[in-house]
Amino acid sequence: MRMVGAASVLFGLFMLAACGGPKAPESPVAANVDGERIAAAANDPANWLTHGRTYAEERFSPLAQIDDSNVNKLGLAWFVDFGSTIGLEATPLVIDGVMYTTGVWNLLYALDARTGKEIWRFDPQVNKAWMRYMCCGPANRGAAAWKGRIYFATIDGRLIAVDAASGKPVWDVRTTDPSEPYSITGAPRVVRSKVIIGNGGAEFGVRGYVTAYDVETGKQVWRFHTVPGNPANGFESPAMEMAAKTWSGEWWVAGGGGTAWDAFSYDPALNLLYIGTGNGSPWQRDLRSPGGGDNLFLCSIVAVNADSGEYAWHYQAVPGENWDYNCVQQMTLAELEIDGKPRKVLMQAAKNGFFYVIDRTNGKLLSAHNFVPVNWASHYDMATGRPVEIKENLYTDTESKLITPSPFGAHNWHPMSYSPKTGLVYFPAQESSYVYSRLPKYEHRKMRWNLAQNPDVKLPPGVTEVIPSTTKGYLLAWNPVTRSEAWRVDHRGPWNGGVLATAGNLVIQGAADGRFVIYRADDGGKLWEMPIQTGAVAGPISYEVDGEQFIAVAAGWAGSLPIIGGGLSNVHHAPSRLLAFKLGGTATLPAASTPTLPSPPASTASREVIARGETLYGQWCRICHGGNLVSSGMTPDLRYMTAETHQGFNDIAVRGTRANKGMPPFADVINDADADAIRAYIIERARRDSISSLLPLGGEGTGEGQQ
Ligand code: CA
Repeated sequence: MRMVGAASVLFGLFMLAACGGPKAPESPVAANVDGERIAAAANDPANWLTHGRTYAEERFSPLAQIDDSNVNKLGLAWFVDFGSTIGLEATPLVIDGVMYTTGVWNLLYALDARTGKEIWRFDPQVNKAWMRYMCCGPANRGAAAWKGRIYFATIDGRLIAVDAASGKPVWDVRTTDPSEPYSITGAPRVVRSKVIIGNGGAEFGVRGYVTAYDVETGKQVWRFHTVPGNPANGFESPAMEMAAKTWSGEWWVAGGGGTAWDAFSYDPALNLLYIGTGNGSPWQRDLRSPGGGDNLFLCSIVAVNADSGEYAWHYQAVPGENWDYNCVQQMTLAELEIDGKPRKVLMQAAKNGFFYVIDRTNGKLLSAHNFVPVNWASHYDMATGRPVEIKENLYTDTESKLITPSPFGAHNWHPMSYSPKTGLVYFPAQESSYVYSRLPKYEHRKMRWNLAQNPDVKLPPGVTEVIPSTTKGYLLAWNPVTRSEAWRVDHRGPWNGGVLATAGNLVIQGAADGRFVIYRADDGGKLWEMPIQTGAVAGPISYEVDGEQFIAVAAGWAGSLPIIGGGLSNVHHAPSRLLAFKLGGTATLPAASTPTLPSPPASTASREVIARGETLYGQWCRICHGGNLVSSGMTPDLRYMTAETHQGFNDIAVRGTRANKGMPPFADVINDADADAIRAYIIERARRDSISSLLPLGGEGTGEGQQ
């Protein structure tokens, strides 16, 4: 197979050269990308060379063959199923007719971008049991390309360089300490021959950092920590010494957090790399830093010199972060006219519900305006650049507060798009609330969840009942200059797909309900849609091969909300699938399959045992297998375990006999009697539920409104 793969890539490149396809390389070098080519991406519309298409992370395609007058002729060109229901978050790259993308469990693929035909695949053999130390599933958001190599990172903390022609590994470096609960889900970027990668894990307790590695050798060039460590060990940089003055107590025991797990952008003229940093560890600030303080650089945008990693400036959106509000959301660079003056800006639609416009030369806040209802802060004080918190809404160990946005965020990692043609920014916005209450006392638990939240402090009756009716999701078109909404399209619920805008006056988005939809960029009018049988969260791309424009998306509902709130989806256990569309495309999807589901066995467990099982499930299983035992498909739905799984349940749950499939052992926290109780609860729940709750609905979206 490898021989065939290598032959077909050479053949493909020969064909490109022979046919004079768009931007065919002079010589047949795979992934022929460098900094000059990325910097000139605006004039290279056929390709998608880096994660956000350009270093500015605009996610705007200049292609206009498909436009608002002919998009009704769009059809499926090809699709690839990855044989899994785990979901996909990746943005593929397309370079001179070859698509590079990550699939499930961090597999890396090279595909013929015209046909979807596989050229090669590389399996990094990740430690699947590392799932236990991941908040939000084994996701990966994509790869980077540079001078004949493809770079990507793995859930278990490795950064790998692969030869773009052969799919063979070149180097494989460990970028996190395997004795700490770090994970990597983000896509690397390559800047001036350095591969940049961050990491995640703040929910478990780690210290965030970003590292730059030499593209050739994989040797570390620099590392920028996003929060300070124990001062007794010395500071890595003057920036860490400055940051440490904004913390108190022994914050380093829980790591502090601030993990840069998703967004970067880069300005070649300023040679500044922008880093979006994460929430605090633990979430609650008084338990994290008892003497108060801003806790730099939590929930900040930090600019560093791309060559040295040296601190240049920071803007902290949420000083003393307290709500899992991270600032890792996409940072898009643009030139905007603000108050009559042209400004080099950086834009972010943050999890906390505010849209920020920042002067990217110096970090000065130009505007911060909420794009959803929020109740943690009333507004930003433009003199100081700081949010004005609503004091009566602060939560304590005796008083819970219902706060919006929730930890799912008003906008999360899901890619956004900026169209220089319309001047609008497009992103999936959502409204949701969460009950926050802190523990009376907190002690860091190594390799466990560390949120310092107390779910036992209840709100007055009636308050939480509003949560379902106030949970919403919509596609938002936002004007960053007038700081106002241009238009919106309501969706069935939250956690919809990333967005692509094109020069053809199109805005393209997959929805959680299993549809792929195209709107007019200027007014949001719906132009086209197709059921794709699976919810989409990743960002679509567009590219051109042999004179034909394609639109592609990695579909499959993935991330924090699906993994715990699978019941919110109407397309359960749906395929992880890559789809490409073109004008006149005639490919068709197979009929959505209907799984044959086993019935639960008989059980004689007492009510007490079932209740204990429910408690244990909530403690150890719910975070991956779903609230109320409903899974979206990222993990098996335990209500429908086979007889074989029931038989081996204790060995699986306690001793890890399916660790190689992603189910880690829990022997350190549960014993066989506990596992029996959990299984009794599962059986009880399965008997209560109708089997039909698991059947996929095949993307028959309902409730879609538009204006
Ligand atoms: Ca978080």
